Parts: sequence; C-alpha cells; structure tokens
Amino acid sequence: MSISPPSVTFSRAYTIVPTYECFNGCTYCNFRSEPGQSPWMTLSEAERVLLQLPSQKVCEILILSGEVHPRSPLRQQWFERIYDLCGLALSLGFLPHTNAGILSLAEMQRLKNVNVSMGLMLEQLTPALLNTVHRHAPSKLPETRLQQLIWAGELQIPFTTGLLLGIGETEDDWWETLKAISELHQRYHHIQEVILQPHSPGNQQSFDWGAFDPYQLRRVITKAREILPPDITIQIPPNLVQDEEWLLACIAAGARDLGGIGPKDEVNPDYPHIQEEALRKVLRCGGWELVPRLPIYPQFDDWLSDDLKMAVEQWRG
Ligand code: SF4
Repeated sequence: MSISPPSVTFSRAYTIVPTYECFNGCTYCNFRSEPGQSPWMTLSEAERVLLQLPSQKVCEILILSGEVHPRSPLRQQWFERIYDLCGLALSLGFLPHTNAGILSLAEMQRLKNVNVSMGLMLEQLTPALLNTVHRHAPSKLPETRLQQLIWAGELQIPFTTGLLLGIGETEDDWWETLKAISELHQRYHHIQEVILQPHSPGNQQSFDWGAFDPYQLRRVITKAREILPPDITIQIPPNLVQDEEWLLACIAAGARDLGGIGPKDEVNPDYPHIQEEALRKVLRCGGWELVPRLPIYPQFDDWLSDDLKMAVEQWRG
C-alpha cells in the first residue's frame, strides 16, 4: 500500500482591484494611488477580464481594494462597486473573497451575502507603529482592526488574517498579535488562515528598511504554530520566500498553505508569483504534495447562504 505524501495547499486565484486609491498612507505600501488618481474598475471591464480566465481552473476571485474614506461622499459608490464585482464573479461561477480594508458592520454584513470568505491583515497590534509607518494611516489603528475580526466572528464570516513582519515592531509584538488572533478564534472559531508575510521592499514605498530576514521566518512559524489553535492554517507567500530550501524549511516548521497563486501579486508587484508547476516541483523535492483548495475551508460551508453553498458545491465536486 502506498502512502500519499503530506500536502500543502494553495488557491487558484485571480485578483481584481476595484481601485488602487487609498486614503491611508502606509509608508511600506507598493499598491496605493492618491485618491482621485486611480480610475475605478467598471463592471464591463471586470466582466471582460473574468470571461478570459481559464474556466474550471481559476476558482477564487480576490477582490482587493484601496480604501475610500468612510466619510467621503464617494464611499457608498465605492462599496456598491465592490459588492457588484463580487456578484458578477459569483454569477460567472467563481468564488469571491474580499479584502477591502476597514468596513462598517453593515458593509460586512452585506458582503457576507456575496463572499465565501473575507480577509484583513491585522499586521501588528503595537500602537508604536502609529508614530512611524502608520503615522498617516488612520485605518491602521489596532483596536479598529481587532474590531473587524470580532465583527467577522459575530457575523460568522470565514476569515483570513495575518501579520506583516519587519515594519519596525519587536519580537514580543509578534507573539502578542498572534495571541490576540488565537483568543478571538477561540471565541468565534472563524479564522481559516493566518498569513505570515515578510516585509519585502518594493519600488513604490518610502519606508527605507531592508527585507525581513528570511532565516527568522522559520522561527516565527514554529512559535506561531505553538500559539495558534491547530485548526488555523499558517500561510506563507512563496514569492516572498524565494530560496527553495527556505521555503521547504518554512513548510517543515508548520506552514501548510501558500495562498492565492495567480498572474500577479498586487500587494508585492516587484515579486512575481512562482507558478503552479514550478512550485509543485519544489515541493515534491521536499516530499510534499501541492494541492489546490477553495477560498473557503469545508468546516465553514454551513455558515453560507443556500446560494453560496450551491456555488461552493459546484467546486467541491
Ligand atoms: S497598505 Fe493598504 S491601507 Fe496602507 S496605504 Fe496601502 S492600500 Fe492603503
């Protein structure tokens, strides 16, 4: 009898960006445009793009947006565009996952109807960063971000969050942030994955720091595995851990998911994704099997509306 190798998952994903404009100014950002400087994606543009995707292959549509200020007169229009893009993706048979920054409770509640899961990076909880990289980023108030995780739990939205490592925080800050995620998950049981994302400098940012030391990542994963409940998967972005040996070392330490793999990493545009076949070969060398997953883990299917459940069932086969 042959024993199948242990698996590492990834999602076949494509990212749609409703707008790059963002009223925050995180100094490590390589994504944002100034408000008013990034035309919003129209539904017909999105439809054209989505119809060209290889059907039966791409499953997840990640709707990733810069933020329009909650008090801006354009906020409602921005939100409706995101909602409609999710609806469009669903109508074409894809499974949407939205990460659009800080949302109101009512906005989250509506998006739950057209998303199989949602996400928001907690990044780091230390308020010290409000004096540095987040000085001009009101959405990065730690209590505001924690509140998003609480609302997601109350609304029963399967959720992805994570830490951004190497933006000026201390080692103790990592463990505090992980403990906070762990505690909320024990209350609501809603966190699917925690991403450990090493800061990787890009061309657009003003934050003048080097990349997070990849040799430390393995240690963070090991400790994160101790802090987080076993039903939360640890995700690492393989394009930011480019040394193959270190990628395998991170997996051996407890990372079991490689996130969405698509044509472009919109958050780190200077670091192209390693594509599926190349990743599969690397993993095989380490004795791992690369396996596609949906943007919702099966234990959360019961939280979905009947319509979303049906959409997911099409993919589960
Ligand atoms: S990191 Fe996110 S919140 Fe910060 S400026 Fe960039 S897009 Fe906006």
